Amino acid sequence: MRKVSQDILDKAISKWGKHAQLLMVLEEMSELQKEILKNINRGKDNIDDIIDETADVEIMLDQMKYIYGIDEAVAKRIPLKLEKVKARLED
Ligand SMILES: [Mg+2]
Repeated sequence: MRKVSQDILDKAISKWGKHAQLLMVLEEMSELQKEILKNINRGKDNIDDIIDETADVEIMLDQMKYIYGIDEAVAKRIPLKLEKVKARLED
């Protein structure tokens, strides 16, 4: 289920371009990684930063799926992935 409207995704691509938006996916994922590392490695109380960066990543994942046209394919893949997790949990 997409969290960002198609209108916003289209406007972002028009304004900044597909390549910049795809690089922004990586930048936001990196920011989230950094906050998780601070939380675990340094015991930092940064849950608000983690929330912030998680929201950024979810928005940019919508952007990335829209650019590649893979929204439906990803949505269909998720239950299959979850079945594999479930099978591993039951091992
Ligand atoms: Mg961010």
